[in-house]
Amino acid sequence: MNNKFRILVVEDDANICNFVKTILETNNYQVIDAASGGSGETMFLSHRPDLVILDLGLPDIDGIEFIRNIREKSETPIIVLSARTNESDKVEALDTGANDYVTKPFGTDELLARVRATLRDSRRNANGEKIGRSKFQTADMTIDYEYRRITVGDSEVKLTQIEYNIVELLSINAGRVLTYSEIIKKIWGYSDYGSIKKLQVNMANIRKKLGEKPGENQYISNELGVGYRMNDSEVIR
Ligand code: CA
Repeated sequence: MNNKFRILVVEDDANICNFVKTILETNNYQVIDAASGGSGETMFLSHRPDLVILDLGLPDIDGIEFIRNIREKSETPIIVLSARTNESDKVEALDTGANDYVTKPFGTDELLARVRATLRDSRRNANGEKIGRSKFQTADMTIDYEYRRITVGDSEVKLTQIEYNIVELLSINAGRVLTYSEIIKKIWGYSDYGSIKKLQVNMANIRKKLGEKPGENQYISNELGVGYRMNDSEVIR
């Protein structure tokens, strides 16, 4: 079959590389791999993968630099593998142009969920449509994009304009984390000193209105220090 998605794995740790390769190949993806940033870039140019899975800690160049180099040439989605506990690295990777990240150690289901969500997003973008459907559903919450209406179970949830816009934005990107600054720029169009606080206040109100208790991530996960992720029905946790 030559219509398989082709995934480039750039990872210098042979064990992790083989682990990722096995998972992907078992799930019908075609995999090519590189053990350094330099060979990764060469492979990228000669094989034109549909997705890149990138380790941030490479022996030759920094993973962030790799993302920057790829983004100069292409919009091919990139998922970052990060062993680091420092959240600012993840934020920097996302803001440089990575589409999502997986923190090591990770499991098979988590990796596959990120790969599926990322490939689906890029297909949608290629078709030029942002919302390819009129409704969105996760758990018992439904969003009707046409009427800008949100229901949980049978009851309608009354959100302000800004609150609705945030939920809609997260749902369009369901399964993918959006950084605080990405959300702020899309919702308010600018970012200033108080923006994160403003976003947090709105998110707290959204969660309360959806009936989500603190620490409960039924609809929206708070990825501490990074951003928010709307759960996708396909995402296995
Ligand atoms: Ca490494």
